Amino acid sequence: MKTIVIIGGGSGGISTANHLAYRLRGSISSGDVHILLIEGSSRHYYQPGFLEIPFGVMSETETYRDERRMVVDGVDLIQENATAIDLKNHEVATQKQKIRYDYLVMATGARYDFDAVPGMGESTFNFYSLDDSVKLKKALNNFKKGKIVVGVTSMPYKCTPAPLEAVFMLHDYFKSRNMLDAVSIEYVYPMPMAFPDKGVSDIALDMFRDRGINPSLNFQIKSVDTAKKELVSRDGKRISFDLALLVPPHRGSKLVEDSKIGDPMGWIPTDRFTLNITGYTDAYAIGDATNLPVSKAGSVADAEAIVVADRISKQVTGYEPDTMYDGSGGALMVTGLGKASMITSSYTQPPVFMPESYSYYWLKLIYNKVYWNMTAKAVLSGVNE
Ligand SMILES: Cc1cc2nc3c(=O)[nH]c(=O)nc-3n(C[C@H](O)[C@H](O)[C@H](O)COP(=O)(O)OP(=O)(O)OC[C@H]3O[C@@H](n4cnc5c(N)ncnc54)[C@H](O)[C@@H]3O)c2cc1C
Repeated sequence: MKTIVIIGGGSGGISTANHLAYRLRGSISSGDVHILLIEGSSRHYYQPGFLEIPFGVMSETETYRDERRMVVDGVDLIQENATAIDLKNHEVATQKQKIRYDYLVMATGARYDFDAVPGMGESTFNFYSLDDSVKLKKALNNFKKGKIVVGVTSMPYKCTPAPLEAVFMLHDYFKSRNMLDAVSIEYVYPMPMAFPDKGVSDIALDMFRDRGINPSLNFQIKSVDTAKKELVSRDGKRISFDLALLVPPHRGSKLVEDSKIGDPMGWIPTDRFTLNITGYTDAYAIGDATNLPVSKAGSVADAEAIVVADRISKQVTGYEPDTMYDGSGGALMVTGLGKASMITSSYTQPPVFMPESYSYYWLKLIYNKVYWNMTAKAVLSGVNE
């Protein structure tokens, strides 16, 4: 009997577990393979929905489902937190048990480190968790006039286009309420560009000009002066705000840090093609948890899940694991309430930004609905590759 353990049942973990269950269904029913998914949360969140809540595009309850509803037959769900990993001895500890594995997949995502920016939690908003998005929805609804700042505190962060999307949605939100004369929007970014890729940055800056949005680039937020309502940069500059939406600093999971298998920020050293945790052919990392030079995005996590499921299926059944990840990922990037673009990239292809259209927006709305039963359930396993 071979035991495959996946830690983390978010976007990447659920997709890996379900793909494996489809591929190995014969071995599972004959008792040769056992798939265990360890997930600490009872809810599976569709995080792109958090950005939609403040603008009323999605409701709170549309952004999560019971984790138990997400697994397909053949996957055993353990609803506990993993507390330690021993890669050398093939062992995972949870709050209640120790589990030996033959193959391991780390899909533990990222966590937010609000303490890294003093003052941030108290006086600013964000759209990176369900609770925060709900609070932001109320704050926007009550906002009558003044300056709204959308800022990124540090790199990397989940869904690179998300803060740009927030700016464009804010613009259209206040336009639809006839409030653009009373509200100004400023975009604060730590890099000299508005996006890590210059091509996309140039397009975004043109779109800012058209919409009267003010970019403040190369501004590394060090702290928030809550009394004065100002962002303070590492070199002492200040930006005032009436309402600030800040993307929190991200780090790897505490489990990774506690088990000492990550870099100083808690990202797992991962082979860019095989997705093996460096030095271990029987252990993999996918999604936000890795140190790979790709976007921390659900599309990436899913593309990686397919590669890892294929590799492990081959290893389990005695074949050479020859499937490689090519760095591909993509995002349907909202450019307003009614328009979107699509950005795709890979290790060899810099991001391509498709002209904005209603069709992409429509596709995004559809994807918000089909995610649950399509991507997460891996129903196209073996077809969409
Ligand atoms: C506002 C917002 C908008 C976004 N928009 C997009 C978008 O448009 N397109 C896109 O592709 N991506 C988007 N993303 C990013 C996407 O949601 C993430 O990149 C994706 O969820 C990563 O998947 P993951 O499996 O690596 O991590 P997650 O989905 O975060 O899952 C990690 C899981 O691990 C579990 N876990 C952690 N530690 C433990 C432990 N010790 N024991 C047990 N379980 C543990 C957690 O509970 C969690 O369920 C967005 C994200 C946000 C926040």
